[in-house]
Amino acid sequence: MKRTALLFFCLLFGLGLIALCGTIFPKYNTVQTDSLKKWTIHDLSRPMPPIVDPGPGKPPTPPPSDAIVLFDGTDLSLWTNSKGEPAGWKIESGYMEVNKTGSIRTVQGFGDCKLHVEWATPTLISGKSQERGNSGVFLMGKYEIQVLDCYNNTTYADGMTASLYGQFPPRVNASRRPGEWQTYDITFTRPRYDNSGNLTSPAVMTVYHNNILVHDHVELTGPTVHKKRPPYTQHPENLPLMLQDHGNPVRFRNIWIQDLKVETENQKKRALFVWGGWEGHEPKQCVDIFAPWLKEQGFEVEVSDTLDSYLDKENMTSLDLIVQAYTMAQITPAQERGLLAAVQNGVGIAGWHGGLADSFRNNTAYQFMVGGQWVAHPGGVIDYEVNIRDHDDPITAGLTDFQMHSEQYYLHTDPINEVLATTTFSDEHAPWIKGAVMPVVWKKMYGKGRVFYTSLGHVAKDFDVPQALEITKRGILWAAGSLEQKK
Ligand code: MG
Repeated sequence: MKRTALLFFCLLFGLGLIALCGTIFPKYNTVQTDSLKKWTIHDLSRPMPPIVDPGPGKPPTPPPSDAIVLFDGTDLSLWTNSKGEPAGWKIESGYMEVNKTGSIRTVQGFGDCKLHVEWATPTLISGKSQERGNSGVFLMGKYEIQVLDCYNNTTYADGMTASLYGQFPPRVNASRRPGEWQTYDITFTRPRYDNSGNLTSPAVMTVYHNNILVHDHVELTGPTVHKKRPPYTQHPENLPLMLQDHGNPVRFRNIWIQDLKVETENQKKRALFVWGGWEGHEPKQCVDIFAPWLKEQGFEVEVSDTLDSYLDKENMTSLDLIVQAYTMAQITPAQERGLLAAVQNGVGIAGWHGGLADSFRNNTAYQFMVGGQWVAHPGGVIDYEVNIRDHDDPITAGLTDFQMHSEQYYLHTDPINEVLATTTFSDEHAPWIKGAVMPVVWKKMYGKGRVFYTSLGHVAKDFDVPQALEITKRGILWAAGSLEQKK
């Protein structure tokens, strides 16, 4: 009897332990995990997979219409070196070639994606094992699919062509001869983390080498590193793709990527309207035009009448957009820091008239972000014309010049502004400014944040002018990164 109880206890304890391990340790595919237990990193006794002839090379695979073409054989404008300077690899006859100027990476970051890469190792065979045609495709700069010449070349199996470096050899060796073009088609799911930075699901790769499946939903144990299998550490959702300079003149051509991000499907974009300051600008009435409309566009909208909203760091970082209508007021250093940090880190900001460009006259750092500051409106409310300067930009496309009966703004503006519409001053109210062409609508970047401004909208009635309303709506969407998607 006693023995049965003990057995029962042991069984319960064992089951509990298994359940506990399941929650503490991420679950990997057991077959794969077992293979890592069996073989130490770069184990030379780990068998090389069987050779499969993939058939002859093919012409470049054309990118589908939803792909971002990262390299079409002509230029490296979407790539930089590791310092963010222009990429220095040699470009020749439709391909780029590693030339010992260092690894290169994309300007844009990617998370979940489908990637197509074509590459060729040098025709002239030199070196052996890891020294023959070595390069690599690093998803998020961290997870490498090895590029190597493994045609009649032996090396450690977890570092051979198409291996997930240091972890998993490919199912088969589908290598073509050196100098022949080969392809990788990679589906990548980035690792996920909970709010405390704990891993909730690992990075997963499916890889076709020369159209042959070599990895099927393989879960990585962490970043791929030489002689190490380090654990995951939390990193951003999007990171640049990297191609390795391992000192061998490997060639690449026809690289394109499909962004498989799903977050926008369920997650609404978030906008914060902040209004206040001088009543004469009707900040509340103007916000009442745009806040309900933005909600109709699918945004989650929060309206605030205090600059203290800029102090809520957590809320600020969760935003996609700030719309500010706050004139001739004071901002505390902490509020200003909160606002500028959010925009610098990628939150868009949009505004009109004095609500953005005559908000805080004492704050030059704020003005540096906006790209301009009001200084005068000669003659007060007058008739003037607005001229569209950029007919291709999505904010002003399809619009024609129009008349305003309002204040004509004289501003001190930033030369980096992308000016989309202007107005020209007459000599009627201030003779010395005759002929001055002044920006009325501009867009610019501040750090990673998009800044949109229009001087239109002195009072709510000004938005009865259809062009003024349309430009402001489009500018608000552009600042939130939503205009191109809508078009
Ligand atoms: Mg490599």
